[in-house]
Amino acid sequence: MLADDLNSFPTVPRLSGSDLTRLEQLLANLRERTGTFLGYPVAKDFDCSALAPFLDLPLNNLGDPFAPSTYQVDSREFEREVVAFAARLLRAEEDSWWGYVGNGGSEGNLYGLYLARELFPQGMVYFSQGTHYSVSKNLHLLGMRHIMIRSQASGEIDYEDLRETLRVHRDVVPIMFANIGTTMTEGKDDIGRIRRIFQELAISRFYIHSDAALCGFIAPFLKPRPAFDFADGADSISISGHKFIGSPIPCGIVLARKRHVERIARSIAYIGNLDTTISGSRNGLTPLIMWLAIRQLGEEGFRARVARSLEVADYACTRLQQAGVAAWRNPNAITVVFPTPAETVCRRWQLASADGASHLVVLPNVSKGQIDCFVADLAAGGCR
Ligand SMILES: *Cc1c(COP(=O)(O)O)cnc(C)c1O
Repeated sequence: MLADDLNSFPTVPRLSGSDLTRLEQLLANLRERTGTFLGYPVAKDFDCSALAPFLDLPLNNLGDPFAPSTYQVDSREFEREVVAFAARLLRAEEDSWWGYVGNGGSEGNLYGLYLARELFPQGMVYFSQGTHYSVSKNLHLLGMRHIMIRSQASGEIDYEDLRETLRVHRDVVPIMFANIGTTMTEGKDDIGRIRRIFQELAISRFYIHSDAALCGFIAPFLKPRPAFDFADGADSISISGHKFIGSPIPCGIVLARKRHVERIARSIAYIGNLDTTISGSRNGLTPLIMWLAIRQLGEEGFRARVARSLEVADYACTRLQQAGVAAWRNPNAITVVFPTPAETVCRRWQLASADGASHLVVLPNVSKGQIDCFVADLAAGGCR
């Protein structure tokens, strides 16, 4: 049989004219809405056109990316390169890490907590008020005991409240869910400081998960470098792919110390399965999307994107303050926080708001011109 014969299928029915028109209308609407999209931490400057032909294939990165599979219409080789790049950036010790590309930051957080629960079934999870809303649900799914700790105004955890709470529960192993950039204010918990608190309280067994959804590919380039990665003591780290890296499909990378994953692989082998990922069937396109970004940009490209974002974030904060808006941002953050403006402004710029505060997230695609436009709109619309 010729390759041509193997790859010929019955013809796919064509779309009707009205269906095509609807798609065209949606595309035009989305393009317009994307133009005034400043309120969510989602980069828009990606070019995946090289991947268009892959849309015609039933790609599936079934199962563990590091284990052999009989399903070979996959991109697992490229997925392994993506995970290896992240492992290097997050200072994982050579040959001591494992990871995969999943559906986003939430899945990576679920995975980190799942590993922690398998290691310490009686452990207590600590997380701050500023933690992403999906975490409470995941703790509920996993049936894990947990305590919410106060946040400082910056969004960073209140270390005194943490210390006092840990002191009361010294008999249970702490599982620290650390935020490396909270969703609303980009406050970063310092896991070095958290480990010192464990040490002071003579707590020797613990687990630390870093939720670096937005900042996983930002923090490695900051000076001073925040304490958040494997060299700083994290046991697992989750990063969103569609936030700072940029992707047309939500995705994420989760990394963990290999010995933790080997423990769950063993415990599942006991019931006759060697399944190490949350989903069985997994997206084969998203690893290619991130691989492409990594090859296009390289470490230096990411460093330049971080520098650009920080510069424009500083500009945005200053311009808003000059316009009389009480704007602020955390040191080295690309999130600019300000009192929630009028409804029309929120809708037009798709601002996420909570507790009277809104934010702009200055991703690398955001220009000073867009900021000027936003500030003019805000000045005209006023604050609530
Ligand atoms: C966005 C975000 C998440 C969720 O990530 P998804 O990729 O949307 O699943 C989790 N934590 C923080 C801090 C986030 O900003």
